[in-house]
Amino acid sequence: MLVQLLTHTPEPEKIVAAAARLCYSDSGIDDLLSASTEQHARLIEKILSLGHFSVLEHVSFSFGIEGVSRACSHQLVRHRLASYSQQSQRYVASDAPFPAVEPPTLRQYPELQQRYQQLFGQVYQLYREMLDAGVPAEDARFVLPNAAETKLVMTMNARELHHFFSLRCCRRAQWEIRDMAKEMLLLCRAAAPLLFADSGPGCLRGACPEGEMCCGHAAEVREEYAN
Ligand SMILES: Cc1cc2nc3c(=O)[nH]c(=O)nc-3n(C[C@H](O)[C@H](O)[C@H](O)COP(=O)(O)OP(=O)(O)OC[C@H]3O[C@@H](n4cnc5c(N)ncnc54)[C@H](O)[C@@H]3O)c2cc1C
Repeated sequence: MLVQLLTHTPEPEKIVAAAARLCYSDSGIDDLLSASTEQHARLIEKILSLGHFSVLEHVSFSFGIEGVSRACSHQLVRHRLASYSQQSQRYVASDAPFPAVEPPTLRQYPELQQRYQQLFGQVYQLYREMLDAGVPAEDARFVLPNAAETKLVMTMNARELHHFFSLRCCRRAQWEIRDMAKEMLLLCRAAAPLLFADSGPGCLRGACPEGEMCCGHAAEVREEYAN
């Protein structure tokens, strides 16, 4: 899996702080960006603690993601407040070796792992034969598995990223999208440390919100994210 931060709104913390400043002071538009770094930091801390998250919508982050499965991307695109561009299986035919994700759990079952890999060989062969016979790629792709690798460009604003990290960094989330979310969070924290300081699974900010579905390891998770 490769997750890259392609670009983001320039000076994201300054923009968010400026929007917050407009709400809480009588500053004119010209003054909004002139506050000191310390003032920006105080305002960002304030809006995050108050839950005044709408100001986070002014800044967006665009990611390039590759080497994830279609099973993962299908979960990702359930997040509706984002923009996606995904490599098409209609216009781009897969070449050998068949690019597919293998779940790490399979390593514990070498015989099944071998059959899993063999099956991909057979699927790919059929897929290729269908294309060579003239079956359109949009139909040949029906034999491709959930494991088929995909590539996407995705843009989310910082408010939706907070929501996404709450759900998908949580241990209840499936391992692949969780790994992806963690990579994204690391990149966001590097680009805008104040905006994403407390971002991550819900249990970082209080009791676990998962109720009886709680993983029971909140203390461990908090320690992981503190580090
Ligand atoms: C652990 C886990 C297990 C899951 N299991 C399943 C499953 O078994 N089956 C399944 O179908 N899905 C499942 N999902 C997906 C889940 O149901 C959501 O579709 C997905 O997490 C997107 O989250 P969302 O709807 O909160 O947020 P987003 O689409 O990211 O939207 C963000 C927020 O905007 C608001 N919003 C967005 N659109 C609307 C709207 N139309 N109307 C009102 N408010 C809106 C909501 O407040 C929403 O929380 C699972 C998710 C997780 C994390």
